[in-house]
Amino acid sequence: MADIFLRDADWIITVDPQRRILTDGAIAIEGDRIVAIGKTKDLEPQYSSARRVISARGRVVLPGLIDCHIHTAFQLARGLADEVSAQKFLFERMYPYEGLLTEEENYWSGKLCVLELLRNGVTTFIDSGNYFPDQTARVVGETGVRCVVAKSAMDIAKSPFGALPERFLETTEQALERAEEVVQKLNGCHGGRVRAWFQFRGIPNSSDQLVTRLKELADRYHTGVQTHACFAKETVEACKTSFGVTEIERLERLGALGPNVLLVHSGWVSPHEVEFVRAHNCKIVAAPSSSLHNAYGDLLMGKIPEFLEMGLAVGLGSDHASSGIVDLVQEMFLVAGAYKEVRLNTSVMPPERVVEMATINGARCALWENEIGSLEAGKKADVTLFNTRMPQWQPLYNPVSNLVYSATGASVDTVICDGKILMEGRQLQTMDEEEIYRQVARLIPGILQKTKLEEKIKPKWPIF
Ligand SMILES: [Zn+2]
Repeated sequence: MADIFLRDADWIITVDPQRRILTDGAIAIEGDRIVAIGKTKDLEPQYSSARRVISARGRVVLPGLIDCHIHTAFQLARGLADEVSAQKFLFERMYPYEGLLTEEENYWSGKLCVLELLRNGVTTFIDSGNYFPDQTARVVGETGVRCVVAKSAMDIAKSPFGALPERFLETTEQALERAEEVVQKLNGCHGGRVRAWFQFRGIPNSSDQLVTRLKELADRYHTGVQTHACFAKETVEACKTSFGVTEIERLERLGALGPNVLLVHSGWVSPHEVEFVRAHNCKIVAAPSSSLHNAYGDLLMGKIPEFLEMGLAVGLGSDHASSGIVDLVQEMFLVAGAYKEVRLNTSVMPPERVVEMATINGARCALWENEIGSLEAGKKADVTLFNTRMPQWQPLYNPVSNLVYSATGASVDTVICDGKILMEGRQLQTMDEEEIYRQVARLIPGILQKTKLEEKIKPKWPIF
């Protein structure tokens, strides 16, 4: 007997290999897997006696969305780093903030982050790396979502890009040892919902030894390795000053590119770096809202349309709350709209491509495409339902168009991950939302005090 029979969906956007869109669609779920998908009338005879029957009338159904780059540790930093350069954003605001966070603060930051991701339809995320990956995994275990965790690694205390806070300082050996411990301990935990990868956080602050050995470890453990790459003019220049080459060129020379390498941002790339990325079949993540918030120039300089044209896996990431939006639905419009604008070309980012970025391409980036990223029999049951009984979805001629150009995560109605209902009719099933807000309110005065940012971030207009 099926556990869940989702029926009468107005539209199911499957993102399967044929990219089928079903009307009057249905999905049958047993345990953590989809066992059947098709027309309601065809599946009804076999599955209408499922333990749970859910009407998806008035709903558009998608694979659970995949956020390929999010700093769970930055969730308590929304508003702490507005109107600053890329260099100041990291070295004067975010790194000092993150360096001061306690284990408990990391836990609640992760919890608030997952709350926002889930409410906006995300079932899988790649945490960009932090210093408490245990806490990220704990949050994922408790909430029922799926993720990739990584321990951050950097071993050059001072680069032309900036100096690291004390909390981040590690020798190469310490960084390697701790990163390997995290993969050994967390990879595959929580019923396989957590996977653990390696990460070097920034190319200018990572030594040749660190980069090459983390890539070797990722190969040995059959897992991935991720890094921020070419996200601002300053990082490219810092890399040239220290190492004589640009960032991706440096990775190529070190033998550190490959299909298990996830390059985040990759905006400031030269034509020969584009060729390296293609030749090594690297994975790429576009993070439009953070580039727009921080003026990184990734959309102006970026080659996302070209990478997509090459057939590379290009995913989408919301990056962090400290640049505002943590809503992959809005990121879809931002990446489409920004490239149309800067290229003066309305067809450079078709909405179908953008939906692929948030689903199947995200799964490819997470090295998880055999199980997630599309709605197909045999795949994991990760499903997001949008409520079309909202102005942003009306009128509805083409659900792909509405999804990319007008919807926000606020229209996500129901979320299923690994066959479990995590949100139904916007009611969260595994999280106590009010408790999270209480804990955040309790923690933020201490964060303001220790980061000493109160004066810098207060409203510019008089407060009465
Ligand atoms: Zn990032």
